Amino acid sequence: MKKELIIFLGSPGSGKGTQANMLKEEFDYYPLSTGQLLRDEGKKDTEEAKEINRLINAGLLVSDELILDIAFKEIEKVENQTIILDGYPRTLKQAELAQQIIDKNLDKFILKKVFIFDLEETALIYRIRNRVTCDKCGKVYNLITKKPEKVGVCDACGGKLMNRVDDSEIDSILKRNRIYKTNIPDIISFYEKNNLTFLIDSVKDLKSINQEIKNVLKITNNKSEV
Ligand code: AMP
Repeated sequence: MKKELIIFLGSPGSGKGTQANMLKEEFDYYPLSTGQLLRDEGKKDTEEAKEINRLINAGLLVSDELILDIAFKEIEKVENQTIILDGYPRTLKQAELAQQIIDKNLDKFILKKVFIFDLEETALIYRIRNRVTCDKCGKVYNLITKKPEKVGVCDACGGKLMNRVDDSEIDSILKRNRIYKTNIPDIISFYEKNNLTFLIDSVKDLKSINQEIKNVLKITNNKSEV
């Protein structure tokens, strides 16, 4: 059975992680956040972990080769679940490298759709400043729109909810958004060639966006038909 891949791209705070988790809860999709994989790698006691943490905290991207390796190692582990790539690829080079692997393994992978979450800067700063993330499982909450049941505790795993280091500095948020805005036009052009892109207006409420995604993917009875 082919592994179905869906890509969610957007500025930090544009809601892609939240939507990926909604599809996980509803349809057992597998959200694969490269940011979360890197934060997990960063907990190890290695030189590479130190370098990853340095880049994340500075609001910079890790290398295209490292992220390819980390992302596809994780993709390989997933069986029988549609995978949502949350925040990958983030450069044209990453998109090209990932596509090379997909093209070489057409019997194994199918890229179904690329969703681009669009949100203007003031709104995303406001959202990120109210965002807390579970230290253990990476689940994301918003203290205004998507509160945990118990203050400071993850509903899913009981882990501790924290502010991400790279979310606490306005400069880091702005830098990440600037990098995103610089890279995204080329990535969109790359996927537009195959008619794969769909733009999401992230100002809309969570339920409407969720419905829009399901409509595009034509999800019915746990199966997508795109
Ligand atoms: P996120 O959790 O998606 O906001 O990602 C947090 C940080 O991880 C980013 O600011 C980057 O430093 C790094 N990161 C995540 N995904 C990628 C990627 N695809 N390429 C390079 N760096 C990434």
